[in-house]
Amino acid sequence: RTKGVFHDHPHITKLLVVLSVSGGGVAAFSDTRPFQTGYADAAHDIKKKKVVVLGTGWAGTSFLKSLKDPGYEVHVVSPRNYFAFTPLLPSVTNGTVEARSIVEPIRSIVRKKKFDVHFKEAECHKIDTQNKKVYCQSTQDNNLGGSEEFTVDYDYLVIAMGARANTFNTPGVVEHAHFLKEVEDAQRIRRTVIDCFERASLPTISEEEKKRILHFVVVGGGPTGVEFAAELHDFVNEDLAKLYPSLKQHVQITLLEAGDHILNMFDKRITEFAEEKFSRDGIHVKTGSMVVKVTDKEISTKERSSGQTVAIPFGMVVWSTGIGTRPVIMDFMKQIGQTNRRVLATDEWLRVEGCDSIYALGDCATINQRRVMEDIAAIFSKADKNDSNTLKVDDFKEVINDISERYPQVQIHLKKKQLKNFFQLLKHSDDDDELNIEKFKSALSEVDSQMKNLPATAQVASQQGAYLADCFNRMDICEKYPEGPIRFRGTGRHRFHPFRYKHLGQFAPLGGEQTAAQLPGDWVSIGHSTQWLWYSVYASKLVSWRTRMLVISDWGRRFIFGRDSSRI
Ligand code: FAD
Repeated sequence: RTKGVFHDHPHITKLLVVLSVSGGGVAAFSDTRPFQTGYADAAHDIKKKKVVVLGTGWAGTSFLKSLKDPGYEVHVVSPRNYFAFTPLLPSVTNGTVEARSIVEPIRSIVRKKKFDVHFKEAECHKIDTQNKKVYCQSTQDNNLGGSEEFTVDYDYLVIAMGARANTFNTPGVVEHAHFLKEVEDAQRIRRTVIDCFERASLPTISEEEKKRILHFVVVGGGPTGVEFAAELHDFVNEDLAKLYPSLKQHVQITLLEAGDHILNMFDKRITEFAEEKFSRDGIHVKTGSMVVKVTDKEISTKERSSGQTVAIPFGMVVWSTGIGTRPVIMDFMKQIGQTNRRVLATDEWLRVEGCDSIYALGDCATINQRRVMEDIAAIFSKADKNDSNTLKVDDFKEVINDISERYPQVQIHLKKKQLKNFFQLLKHSDDDDELNIEKFKSALSEVDSQMKNLPATAQVASQQGAYLADCFNRMDICEKYPEGPIRFRGTGRHRFHPFRYKHLGQFAPLGGEQTAAQLPGDWVSIGHSTQWLWYSVYASKLVSWRTRMLVISDWGRRFIFGRDSSRI
């Protein structure tokens, strides 16, 4: 299990072939450069390769921040001219943090780059792989007098368009529920909460109507839904209850979850703690409750326990049930033959399968696990030292190490709970000490369905952006000296590793200055001290010193003066 295993991998060779085919004039270009730095002289007269980046979210921005080689001409297309720090969006819904404190203009992020970055505030609505161009339309909601159509051609295309909220085609959701995906969504929620309190204060409103208006329903017990419910509870209890004392008794927060538990992707201890805390706080957690319809005043759920449909009156609904594919990505998937998939499939080098010079990262893409599984099967076969089509149980651990080094996303999954089941799946019988490789192959589909894709998180998106930029930074030098720098020749140091995700842990803020954290190694930490860890991690992860200072001062302002409840 040396690095050579990766370097000799056929996909890497393929990558290098693709790069040398698509990189046209690179060889001549590279000749003029000092080998040591790998960066082009700004004065060179060779045509720069045009990289088009779609999206300014976590993946796109991380790619832009890490791209250093001035040998590229970079064009960015995104309907948002800023990067938004999404983990703090729930804090924007109640004014703990102001919206402008968590955004940074993309132009200022790339201002100090050694190469030109051309930004266009527009949406890409079509990707033409044949002619290597993207069709764009400027955004209509900027009040600048209608939209403009234009095309941008590319040598390399980086798709980082993220995802949209998933409604599961539930009737009425788009019309009547709030999403919590963009900064504008968070601002809208903040205004609606205040609206509900002001409306419920009107003298003409009956007691029953007050109860309805002040019933806040959150759909989805994942990290975002849970954090929002907790933030709303804090806002109501710490601030609004003082300003609207007569309404406090009418306020109800309900969290609907179709599964058996909230935060089910977290350790059981965190789930239990969160459910108990919410129960103490008076947040009504309703599990086994599937939303079937939303109207302007009622949300209908099908209860798993009774099989009945129940109508719940509400004042505001926030829909947070995961992510779905953007229409432009769906069209693109059809075009390239990736039908029947939820997101774009890439290989471990983040290249879109079946395309030339197109990369996809972040929430809009996933590494094709099926092929990963086939590679794993091949590793198993190789490990079959005695050609008996079986594998000694003792060797199993070593093989797993091999796999997990190469595919960290598999490691995370196997390490947790699947390892045991996985192991059982491969054994002939309970007292057998050998694993059948053929059986493993036929069990692929079962394991495949257990193997989750990489999570759709900022962590994955930003690591992918940085990884891809690193590949782009070294692309020329790899072509010119594929055997590696002189001092390393023979080891293939220049070749690209597949993308490896490093999981740094996950937080679940639960309100009342308490947070749960699941850190690497399944280490769990819950409580007030974890909240301080949360403050420090998020402050350090903010994209600039300006946003860092703004967010820290917002936190300070909230501690001293409370949250602002003006409806502006
Ligand atoms: P995004 O960040 O969504 O960026 C997509 C970009 O594409 C945007 O700039 C968008 O404007 C642009 N775009 C959209 N359509 C087009 C188009 N047609 N053409 C061109 N550009 C387009 N993850 C964590 O790891 N930790 C957390 O604590 C966490 N908290 C979260 C809280 C909330 C409320 C939300 C909504 C998400 C949270 N996430 C968290 C998840 C994280 O935000 C996403 O996984 C991450 O944003 C994905 O990055 P991305 O670059 O793929 O997509």
